[in-house]
Amino acid sequence: LDNFSVKNEPVLGYLKGSKERYELEEALKQISSSCEDVPIIVGDEEIRTKLVQHQVMPHNHSQKIAQYYHATPEVIKKAIKVAVAAQKTWENVPFQERFNIWQRAANLMATKYRMQLNAATMLGQSKNALQAEIDSAAELIDFFRFNAYNAKELLSYRPVSENPKVTLNSMRYRGMEGFVAAVSPFNFTAIGGNLAYTPALMGNSVLWKPSDTALLSNYIIFKIMKEAGLPSGIVNFVPADGPVFGDNTTSSKDLACINFTGSVVTFNHLWRQVGNNIDLYKSYPRLIGECGGKNYHFVHPSADVLNVVVNTIRSAFEYCGQKCSACSRMYVPESLWPKIKDGLLAIRNDLKVGDPTEYDTFMGAVIDAKAFQRLSGAIDRAGKTSGLKVVGGGTYDCSKGYFIQPTIVESKNPKDDIMVNELFGPVLAVYVYKDKDVNSTLELVGNSTPYALTGAIFGNDEEFLKKATVELKQTAGNFYINDKSTGSVVGQQPFGGARKSGTNDKAGGPHYVLRYASPISVKETF
Ligand code: GLU
Repeated sequence: LDNFSVKNEPVLGYLKGSKERYELEEALKQISSSCEDVPIIVGDEEIRTKLVQHQVMPHNHSQKIAQYYHATPEVIKKAIKVAVAAQKTWENVPFQERFNIWQRAANLMATKYRMQLNAATMLGQSKNALQAEIDSAAELIDFFRFNAYNAKELLSYRPVSENPKVTLNSMRYRGMEGFVAAVSPFNFTAIGGNLAYTPALMGNSVLWKPSDTALLSNYIIFKIMKEAGLPSGIVNFVPADGPVFGDNTTSSKDLACINFTGSVVTFNHLWRQVGNNIDLYKSYPRLIGECGGKNYHFVHPSADVLNVVVNTIRSAFEYCGQKCSACSRMYVPESLWPKIKDGLLAIRNDLKVGDPTEYDTFMGAVIDAKAFQRLSGAIDRAGKTSGLKVVGGGTYDCSKGYFIQPTIVESKNPKDDIMVNELFGPVLAVYVYKDKDVNSTLELVGNSTPYALTGAIFGNDEEFLKKATVELKQTAGNFYINDKSTGSVVGQQPFGGARKSGTNDKAGGPHYVLRYASPISVKETF
């Protein structure tokens, strides 16, 4: 294998007058002036069913950017057949060839298609230029490069051979027999690319159900992989109604793996379906899932107020808080609350909510009508419930786009719904504790939600930092000290959580690729 090293893709700034800003503008114009027709793709075949759907801009919901089609059960069954057949030849393609495809794809993403990917993410998923750039450019490219690099590291493992001239031991890495069902979310274009293509890198074939609300950006990834040389049938692009996709993949004897990012409810449902069908399968399917969180910022009385304020605003409200990692509950000591509250409100009042293609916009719209209803409902409830107080924001409007103002709610009850349940939007719940209760409040962090995805502690008291780091060990898969709970970087902070946040397989980490490999030990005797 070629020797190659790996580093993170630099993030572009899109400054006024820059070449990249001009190119992005051109890509935005092109995508917003058309409604691309996106077929289902199974093997080489383009399929258009009668189940016609449209992707709209969340911030301008009368404008369509893509027309696409939901797969029927027959189409899903056909895709399974194609994928299972393709897997058998694909896993025998030498790794070097597969790596070359991944390197080519990463380079295409970094150059020729960077602006198209970003524009589709901005318009389809309502991200501003910076949020798109760190997702559909930097993180996506990083996933492709780091996974290829980590696979190479995995392949270089040599088991002990005491006398290799007599007996040579080796470890070889097959794909999993059958097919992988990849179900990806809307909030990161990069996650779609990672969920669908990392299994493929490791010799598997895939049915990819992209999120309906990330359709266009995900389709661009599909086209890039084709241009980079991925043979057809390895990843099949199968948008579908969730339950139809779930029922028809989990009832196939060839299901090898579910690769999922989405809600706990859906992951639990898929897990149950697999359990019910367990006698059917040729192999035990691997269930790999990342399912959300109720992530905390815990502030100690020794914390630096400005650092807390800036990081909390970014974690709770960037991309409308629609990150699995976003801070949505905060614990603040009474002694610091007045200052922290003033700081949060001062910045909050300056945040522009609106069209994400304008460079001073901080937040676009939330993803769709369903999200809008869930969030506006929670805000209404907060306005009416005693013990809850909306201290900032609290308004919404969906006449043009699904806009929710960044909202801060103070809760007198650390176990109230708003402190416990994931809302997945720009709503931050704050519990103010008495300084003397710092230890009992710390206990609440781990005891009050079923999740353990991300968390952050803020303080300058060394004893506290040490103690909290130990006590909160099981409460987050990504833990931050004096930094925000969002913004993990591939290769730097491998990402994933435990408890009901998922199977903690650490996307972007060194061992992630092993989850998609089926190793075989070979003993050769001469
Ligand atoms: N990796 C992202 C972060 O650390 C979050 C990914 C997600 O929302 O699933 O902010």
